[in-house]
Amino acid sequence: NSIERGAPGKPVIVQKKLNGYVGFANLPNQWHRKSIRKGFSLNIMVVGESGLGKSTLIETLFNMSLYGPKTPRQPGHELAKTIEIESVTADIEENGVRLHLTVVDTPGFGDFVNNTDSWKTIIDNIDARFDAYLDAENKPNRVVINDDRIHACIYFIQPTGHSLSALDITVLKQLHRKVNIIPVIAKSDMLTDEELLAFKSRILADIAHQGIEIFQPPKYDNDDEETQLENEEIFAKSPFAVVGSSNLVQAKDGRMIRGRSYPWGVIEVDNEEHCDFVKLRQLLIRTHLEELRERTANQLYEQYRTNKLLELGMVQDTSVFMSEGEALSNSARLEQEISLHKMKLAKMESEMKSVFQQKVAEKEQKLKRSEAELFARHHEMKQQLEAQRLELEERKARLEHDRPVEEKKTKKFSLR
Ligand code: GDP
Repeated sequence: NSIERGAPGKPVIVQKKLNGYVGFANLPNQWHRKSIRKGFSLNIMVVGESGLGKSTLIETLFNMSLYGPKTPRQPGHELAKTIEIESVTADIEENGVRLHLTVVDTPGFGDFVNNTDSWKTIIDNIDARFDAYLDAENKPNRVVINDDRIHACIYFIQPTGHSLSALDITVLKQLHRKVNIIPVIAKSDMLTDEELLAFKSRILADIAHQGIEIFQPPKYDNDDEETQLENEEIFAKSPFAVVGSSNLVQAKDGRMIRGRSYPWGVIEVDNEEHCDFVKLRQLLIRTHLEELRERTANQLYEQYRTNKLLELGMVQDTSVFMSEGEALSNSARLEQEISLHKMKLAKMESEMKSVFQQKVAEKEQKLKRSEAELFARHHEMKQQLEAQRLELEERKARLEHDRPVEEKKTKKFSLR
């Protein structure tokens, strides 16, 4: 038992052992039941060049087929110069626990001859999701808000064995303050163990040198040793060297496993000695899904929201210095800001209206009260005056009555 004395003006916190069962130890069970009822949601974005195995990895992660057969891109598609945003949603269930999964793919990323600024569509999409959430929060009648914000971005690095490309660095720098970044080395079966180790350390050095923030597990004081160890083991593998495959192949010992079969052997997706797929799945789904959601809501979105509201007060017209495309996207952003501002004004107006109405009602009541008081005072004075009048009348009558006697007395006097 311990008693902590509070500083002057602060509450005293008493820590004591209970003498018997109270019941709040059951709170986690309430939470558990509520979560089961509500279900969970996870929005993942996959970013990486076409053909790096993004769709395959997602299907391997969730052990289901999400995408239909892919239509090969037409020659010359790179002239289109735009990244498409494709989103697939699935409601899945495991042992009674429901997960609403959305996967946002960015086909076309890195496919162009000149990729400068081609990634802006991705940033705009992430921003638009934050804006939609902000709009919903600012509505006077808030209903349940759909959380479409991206909770994790799996960034696919080409298995070149060199280091991050210039495009990787540019894009990661744009993304890291808006989403939780989980870097993966795509198709890691293309590299040998030694190449992988060296590649990983070069990528990590690049990430540190460029000041790019990737998702790290938060450390809590009350985490037990086992959890700390588990976290360390998971994140020691970052960037995760992954291999994706939903196909079952026959392993050496005859087992049917998910993997890729080569003339020299089989690579098992779910074997931790073959790749880091298991650790990635552990992070994303088993151990850190809630942390990813929480960091998105409490840090990344909060930062975006603060910046957005600050910007509202200081919108600068720089369109004269911009290319046509930039001016267009800026005008769309301006329009969004204006609508956000209008919404804020409407909210302020309705708040002011209700304050005004309350003040008027208060004044009316006060007036009514003083009117009643005045009426009572008036009535009282009237009564007093009436009483005075009656008294005077009485005195007058008395005087009139007494007058002849007095006059007789006076006459007698004068005769003498
Ligand atoms: P996306 O365009 O990034 O979505 O790539 P896909 O998932 O469509 O994969 C493109 C090709 O790469 C397909 O033929 C896959 O079978 C193959 N692939 C996917 N994952 C891997 C992997 O981990 N290793 C190897 N070697 N090939 C893969």
